[in-house]
Amino acid sequence: MNPFKAVWGLLFRLFPCPIQTGVVRIGNPGPDSPVLVTCNFYTTVRRLIRTLKGVDAWLLVAESKGVNVWCAACGNEFNTRSVVSAIKTSGIEDKVTHRTVILPPLGAAGISAAEVKDQTGWHTRWGPVRAKDIPAYLAAHRKRTEPMKRATYTLGERLDTALGSMFPFYFFVALGFLVFAPHLLGYFVGTLVATFLVFIGLCPWIPGKHGWQKVLLLDALLGLALAATSVWPVPADIPVRTILVMAMVLFALHGGELGGLSSIWASDFDPFMARLGLRSIGNTRFAGTTRTDLLIGARVLTHYPEKCSSCAECINVCPIGVWDRNEHKKTFLAHREACTACCACLKQCTEDAIEALAA
Ligand code: SF4
Ligand code: SF4
Repeated sequence: MNPFKAVWGLLFRLFPCPIQTGVVRIGNPGPDSPVLVTCNFYTTVRRLIRTLKGVDAWLLVAESKGVNVWCAACGNEFNTRSVVSAIKTSGIEDKVTHRTVILPPLGAAGISAAEVKDQTGWHTRWGPVRAKDIPAYLAAHRKRTEPMKRATYTLGERLDTALGSMFPFYFFVALGFLVFAPHLLGYFVGTLVATFLVFIGLCPWIPGKHGWQKVLLLDALLGLALAATSVWPVPADIPVRTILVMAMVLFALHGGELGGLSSIWASDFDPFMARLGLRSIGNTRFAGTTRTDLLIGARVLTHYPEKCSSCAECINVCPIGVWDRNEHKKTFLAHREACTACCACLKQCTEDAIEALAA
């Protein structure tokens, strides 16, 4: 293990943390052992190796520019080309006798399973969304249960992703306090820990569909408390008003972009930037992408039942469970309102039965 990369991948996840692509042996794999594909984000690979203890498998680490599966697939850094290249150049074809790769379903926004098959001859299967389910999935002869197909955002996942994504902001603000207002540093750290635990711990239950709605509610409550300090006396030796303002800003920081933290929430930031008319910052595009067009309502996810073969690939890759089958076994958009516009179903449909149609 590389301790620097371990810390970097854990706390500075906003920035890439690449690991060598290629084949990694898990346990004692043989020619019949399963081949699992993942990204080349250091933390993901380390965690997979740890989670798969006791399993014999080949782990095919494909290029994602050192970014995790979900973010890299949505940003098209973890894509069909990554997987095709990993299969063709890693030597995996000489190590196994079968020709099936197990793909991570959160990569479905970037990897076209049909194109991987066309370009390599390898069959593809979607594995479980969470790595911890892989041993059970393999033990069940590669059958996914319903929960294995859907993304979750449990307390542990929330603490992990929120801290990993937001730590650089917290760190630099704390550094600012240390330099310019050291007497407030302790209050800042205390407020940070308290607001982080409250927001991340309780966010599924805080009213509001979007992160900014949750933040508005909490900040309104803190605003009332702030107003109350001009009526009720506050301890003279504690900067209560400063702490309340800090808490309001910190709630905005924790909850401003829930979609950037989890695959179960749609982005708030990208459509906001698109509405402002900002096309991109660096490599990140806002206006004019299918995803932001869907989120701002410029396009609508449209299903053409007459073209649909009911192959169920959209059901297989939607992390939210937006698609379902009706009583005639026909696929349909059952929970459109829950769609986060990840575009995975659009990417996988080979019949052109799903479109993002101009509104
Ligand atoms: S919409 Fe496309 S992916 Fe979904 S079942 Fe129909 S053909 Fe398959
Ligand atoms: S229905 Fe929405 S959330 Fe589900 S795969 Fe399609 S675009 Fe993604």
